Amino acid sequence: MFANYIKIFLLLIACNACGQTKKEAVMKYNELTDKEAYVILNKGTEAPYSGEYTNNKAAGTYVCKQCNAPLYRATDKFESGCGWPSFDDEIEGAVIRVPDADGMRTEIICANCKGHLGHVFLNEGFTAKQTRHCVNSISMTFIPENEPLKPIIKMNEELKKAYFASGCFWGTEYYFRKLKGVVATAVGYMGGDVENPTYEQVCTKKTGHLETIEIEYNPAIISYDELVKYFFETHDFSQEDGQGPDIGPQYKSVIFYADAAQKEIDEKYIAELKEMGYHVATTLQPVAHFWKAEDYHQQYYEHKGTTPYCHIYKQIFDKK
Ligand SMILES: [Zn+2]
Repeated sequence: MFANYIKIFLLLIACNACGQTKKEAVMKYNELTDKEAYVILNKGTEAPYSGEYTNNKAAGTYVCKQCNAPLYRATDKFESGCGWPSFDDEIEGAVIRVPDADGMRTEIICANCKGHLGHVFLNEGFTAKQTRHCVNSISMTFIPENEPLKPIIKMNEELKKAYFASGCFWGTEYYFRKLKGVVATAVGYMGGDVENPTYEQVCTKKTGHLETIEIEYNPAIISYDELVKYFFETHDFSQEDGQGPDIGPQYKSVIFYADAAQKEIDEKYIAELKEMGYHVATTLQPVAHFWKAEDYHQQYYEHKGTTPYCHIYKQIFDKK
C-alpha cells in the first residue's frame, strides 16, 4: 500500500494533465537503490544470510535506511540462526506492527516513514522477551557507537486544503500558485445546488455556485493565516456585486471554511480589515462539494502565457 502511495505520488509529480498539478516534490527521504526499494517500498525480502548485518556484533544503533530514524539497539540483537538480523525489542515507538498481506504473519514497518523492515514473531523461546524482530539488513543502516546519528527525515506535515472565491477563478489560481507551500491548485465551482455544473450553467447565474479555487498546501511551509491574508491582498474584497468587470453572484468574494478553526481565522482578518476602515463584502460559507471545472480552465494563465486582468496584488497586512 505504501509502495502504491509512492507510485501515485510520483505519478502526480510527473503528470501535468492531472488538473491538480503538483508544483514541487514534498518528500525527500534518502534515495534508495533498486535493491533497497524492492525491500523497503515493495515489501520484498532479502535472501537469508545475504545481509551485511546478520552477524554484526558491534555496539551501536540500527537506523532506518530511508529516513534515519533509530530502530534497534545493538544490545537487543541476538543470534537466532534464521539468516536475518534478529532483535527482541525495538526502540520505543520506532516500529509499527501491521497484519501482513499473507494473512498470517505480522509485518513490521518504520513508524516514521512506513518503510518495510521485516516481520515480528512471538513466543518462539529465543529470549526472555519471547519476541523476534526479523529485519532485513538492507532496510537499515548501522551506526557504530562512537558515530553521531543523522537527523531523522520527517515527512512533511499532512497537506491541507483551503477554498477561496474571489472573482474569475483564473486570476485567483494564478496568484495562489505563486506561493511557496502551495503544493497544488485546481479551479472549480462550489456553493450551488446543481450537481457537476458546467461553466455555461454557472454563467447563467442560476446554479448558486461561485468560481472557487481549491488549494492544497503544506502547513509546515505556509499557514492558513497567510493564505487568508493573501486572499484579501489579491482582490477587491470591498466589491459587492462581483470582481472587477466580472459582475454576478458567481464572482463574489467568499471564503469557504472547512472547520471552526478556519472560520475563526477568517473572522479575525475580516475584523482587522474593518478596523483599518475597509468595507468588507466577503462572506463566509461552510465548505461544500468542490466540482472541478473543465480542463481548459485549469492553470489558464500558465497555459496561455498571459497575466490576469481582474486581480492585482496589494499589500495590506504587515509582513512577518
Ligand atoms: Zn524510516
